[in-house]
Amino acid sequence: MTNNQSTDLLFEISHPGRRCHRLPECDVPAREGLVPKDSLADAPPPLPELGEIDLIRHFVNLSKRNMSIDTNFYPLGSCTMKYNPKRHERMAALPGLANLHPLQSDESCQGMLAMLWSMQNILAEIAGLDAVSLQPAAGAQGELTALLVAEAYYRDRKEHARKRVLIPDSAHGTNPASAAIAGFDTVSIKSTDKGLVDLADLRSKLDEKTAVFMITNPNTIGLFESQIGEITKLIHDAGGLVYLDGANMNAIVGVTRPGDFGADMMHYNVHKTFTGPHGAGGPGSGPIAVRANLAPFLPTPIVVKSPSAPTPLPQGARGEWYALDFNRPKTIGRVRSFFGNVGILLRGYCYIRTLGARGLREMTENAVLNANYLLALVQHALDVPNGNRCMHEFVASAARLKRSKRISAMEIAKRLLDFGYHAPTIYFPLVVPEALMIEPTETESKETLDAFAATLLKIIDEDADFLRDAPHTTPISRPNETRAFKEPILRWKA
Ligand SMILES: *Cc1c(COP(=O)(O)O)cnc(C)c1O
Repeated sequence: MTNNQSTDLLFEISHPGRRCHRLPECDVPAREGLVPKDSLADAPPPLPELGEIDLIRHFVNLSKRNMSIDTNFYPLGSCTMKYNPKRHERMAALPGLANLHPLQSDESCQGMLAMLWSMQNILAEIAGLDAVSLQPAAGAQGELTALLVAEAYYRDRKEHARKRVLIPDSAHGTNPASAAIAGFDTVSIKSTDKGLVDLADLRSKLDEKTAVFMITNPNTIGLFESQIGEITKLIHDAGGLVYLDGANMNAIVGVTRPGDFGADMMHYNVHKTFTGPHGAGGPGSGPIAVRANLAPFLPTPIVVKSPSAPTPLPQGARGEWYALDFNRPKTIGRVRSFFGNVGILLRGYCYIRTLGARGLREMTENAVLNANYLLALVQHALDVPNGNRCMHEFVASAARLKRSKRISAMEIAKRLLDFGYHAPTIYFPLVVPEALMIEPTETESKETLDAFAATLLKIIDEDADFLRDAPHTTPISRPNETRAFKEPILRWKA
């Protein structure tokens, strides 16, 4: 069976008796027995037979073991675990949105296309850039997509020597991984002892092979790269492009724009900055924004306001007509099925439209305020190597505690679980020894921050042996993480 036939089958299963309109070549009529006989199982699968009450107890008890932003403070640095407002869930569940099928015709999903079109424009505006692709399903996929766009751009300009992507040593691991997958060589750029890009090192590594400089700003240490203007000028003078890893947009939305400080392309993490519920690997949405000179290479389709609206407009259409534009000769092609992770884009759209421009700026200011407040509460007990001010997060180090009391970042993180807190990100960024990366986000109250700081200070004073056995209250204590990764047990009962 071809791919088109199988998408067609899926469509017919979910829409009995109807035809797929989007793919003209898949003209298989609806029929009985959609699944081929040789693909059918002979007998029902051996599922456990349980009463409803047993099933409910099983899942409710499992859910009670979950730690989530709805149940616990979750200062997981870099991940922006902010509250996911319930009104977004209600909007995303509206039948007119939730029941749409991705293979429906453009005519029958104008509302959704209008939302996606508007989201493209809003994200371009916040970025200070010109064009957006909503397709990438995570920040990491956004990185890869943008680097493929850069590769296509240089190929188009016949600048075949530009094969190097420069990345600061404080960067998230996805940056070098994306560059390698996109076929580039990676070059690491040192940080200064202040935690910023080392300009001398950067200068010495720029040449005609430079393709892209990937920068996270504010960086993963929670500091704004104050030399960003000079950095982007250096890259542009060398003929390179600047990529902004937008995972830390929560610190700058509405205050400054990546395009204004010289970025040529960036990704958003809608699940971080714009409240998509996330964790455990999904679901994500990582749209990218680029300057006009890179726009022809973006993935297809892009949502466009169509010049060729049908006349008369179909019933319910409001005088505007939206369509999917596949006709982009220089495109790198698709990077994800259909239109991207529409459910998360919808939630982000709802958030942005609810707050408006001023509200988004206030969000940013409160995120930065909360992080600085927490920093001030713990600074005397935990070293914060790179200054007494931060953006939306800060990185503390347990290195001194490790030397004096043999308490590592791991011990502090594990013990926090006993008090009902999710642990901060630990041992990242790599440039800070015994790192504890703490990001409270703007949605936490002063009471929560006070209580967390008090707990952190109390833990630091506890007996080191007691801490090494922590956590003491969770269903499992310290799994062998390497083994859990290499030999995962994914079943409830063997
Ligand atoms: C989260 C994050 C990423 C990757 O984003 P995903 O959406 O998890 O793929 C990249 N860079 C930084 C700094 C991040 O915090």
